[in-house]
Amino acid sequence: MPEIALIVLAGVFGTLLGSFLNVCVYRLPRNESLLHPPSACPACGARIAWYDNVPVFGWLWLGGKCRPCRAPISVQYPLVEALIGAVFAAAAWGYGISWHGAAAAVFGTLLIGIALTDARHYIIPDEFTWGGLVLGMALAAPGGWPTLSRALLGAATGFALLYAIAWAGEKAFRKEAMGGGDIKMMAMVGAFVGWKGVLVTVFLGALLGTAIFVPIAWRTGKLVPFGIFLALGAAVTFVAGDALIAWYLGFVLGG
Ligand SMILES: [Zn+2]
Repeated sequence: MPEIALIVLAGVFGTLLGSFLNVCVYRLPRNESLLHPPSACPACGARIAWYDNVPVFGWLWLGGKCRPCRAPISVQYPLVEALIGAVFAAAAWGYGISWHGAAAAVFGTLLIGIALTDARHYIIPDEFTWGGLVLGMALAAPGGWPTLSRALLGAATGFALLYAIAWAGEKAFRKEAMGGGDIKMMAMVGAFVGWKGVLVTVFLGALLGTAIFVPIAWRTGKLVPFGIFLALGAAVTFVAGDALIAWYLGFVLGG
C-alpha cells in the first residue's frame, strides 16, 4: 500500500482534474473551446476568481451562489470534483502509483464524463472516446507488447461488437437503435479492459439497462441513454472483471 501522503496527493490532483472535467462536460456538447473564455457565471457573466474556483471548497464557501449576483451554482460542480478526487485516491490506494493505477484513474474520469454528457445531452463527445482510446493505448504501452496487444485487441473487439449490435438493431427495428457514440465508446473501453472485459461490460450494461431503463421508460416514456449503463458496466469490469469471469467459468464448468 502506498504512503497515505501519496493517496491524498492523488486525491487532490483528482479534484483539480474534476474541475476541468466540469468544463469539458459543459462545453464539449456545445462545441465550445475548453480554454477560452475562462470560467464565468452563466447568469451574470462575472469571471470566477481563482480563490472561488478551488475544487469543492470554492463552492462551499460561496454557499453555492455566485459572489456578485447570488445566482445558484449547480451542486454538480463540487460533486464531480469530489467524485474524481475519490476515484484518483481509490486508484492510488488500490493499485499504487503505477501505470495500472494511472489507467484506473483516467478510465474512471472518462467514464464519469461520458455518463454525464450522455445523461444531460444524449451526446458522447469524441474527446472522451477517440481521445480516451489514445490515452488507453498510451497507458498500455509501457507494459510492452503483452499489455499493448491486449489493448489493441480490446479496442477492435469493442468497436466490432457494438457495430454489429447497432447494425442488427437497425435491421430489426428499422431505426437507429444505438448511436455512433456508443460504438466509439466501447472501442475506448476495450483499450482499458481487453476483449474479455468488453464482453463482460456489454453483458453488465445490458443487464443494468434492462433492470433500470425499462421500468423508467415504461413509467415516464423517457429514454435513458445506454452509454450510462455501459459506463457503469465498464467500471465494474475494470475492478472485478477477472473475478467475474473466473466465477462464471467455475459456475459453468464446475456446475
Ligand atoms: Zn453571477
